[in-house]
Amino acid sequence: KQSWMSRLKAGLSKTSANLSILFVGAKIDDDLYDELEAALLMSDAGVDATQFLLDALKRKVKEDKLLDAAQVKDALKQLLIELLQPLQKPFELGRHQPLVMMISGVNGAGKTTTIGKLAKHMQAHGQSVLLAAGDTFRAAAREQLMVWGQRNNVTVISQESGDPAAVSFDAVQSGKARGTNVVMIDTAGRLPTQLHLMEELKKVKRVIGKGMEGAPHETLLVIDGNTGQNALAQVKAFDDALQLSGLIITKLDGTAKGGILAAIARVRPVPVYFIGIGEKIEDLQPFNAAEFVEALLA
Ligand code: GDP
Repeated sequence: KQSWMSRLKAGLSKTSANLSILFVGAKIDDDLYDELEAALLMSDAGVDATQFLLDALKRKVKEDKLLDAAQVKDALKQLLIELLQPLQKPFELGRHQPLVMMISGVNGAGKTTTIGKLAKHMQAHGQSVLLAAGDTFRAAAREQLMVWGQRNNVTVISQESGDPAAVSFDAVQSGKARGTNVVMIDTAGRLPTQLHLMEELKKVKRVIGKGMEGAPHETLLVIDGNTGQNALAQVKAFDDALQLSGLIITKLDGTAKGGILAAIARVRPVPVYFIGIGEKIEDLQPFNAAEFVEALLA
């Protein structure tokens, strides 16, 4: 069985190869910087983070009088770790009883899969979990969550048809009554451009707060690591609407380019609690900046 790190490395191998090759026997000149700029842009880092990294790297090369391409590569690695470090934040359990989490994202981002993974992760840490099927639009989404819950002995609060805010409120009440440690509230997938659905999401959040003061304690967005700069647009829009407390970036095992984390760090630094590195239940890892950069630039 492949380790998660080797799966992350495989996922990011294209970016890693594109970046690494630049430094092989290279002279430190404008050509190198131009090629690096192109490679960073190709990796989904975006204009802002790319310019930031290039400027910082040129400064460091000058200050430290770096003459060797391998040293420049190490300097870039260091700068990337420093850039991504603020996104690293451990997810702490047991802060509230129950700890209430609201989870949003566009369709197909991996939201339902991630909720299953998170529930498993929390159970492994001795937490009891309650799920709320807040996706009242798609019966299939609700069923997917129910099946998952049954298989893992997790109660799923669901209503055939109904108001997602009401289901969410119910779940919080139920979590309080049962003494559950964690209540995770799924929401229907939606695009930031669907303004009425974004308004609905704000309402769900407000109503959760009526069920328990200070809740939701975590407002998370799940994003697909393969969606390029679009992922950044999603982070901005959902953060504007909901004031996100954290992100989970999925599918970094596939063909993700990885640079999107640099863009997020520069433009909208919402903590990345976990990364998804596969379809299976155990394929979830806490985000670690140094490990991520190790996979991004071997
Ligand atoms: P939702 O619409 O946001 O709830 O998305 P789903 O949870 O249904 O996931 C959509 C697809 O992405 C499914 O085929 C999942 O198995 C897949 N998926 C989710 N997370 C990951 C991941 O980290 N890696 C890979 N390779 N696939 C994932």
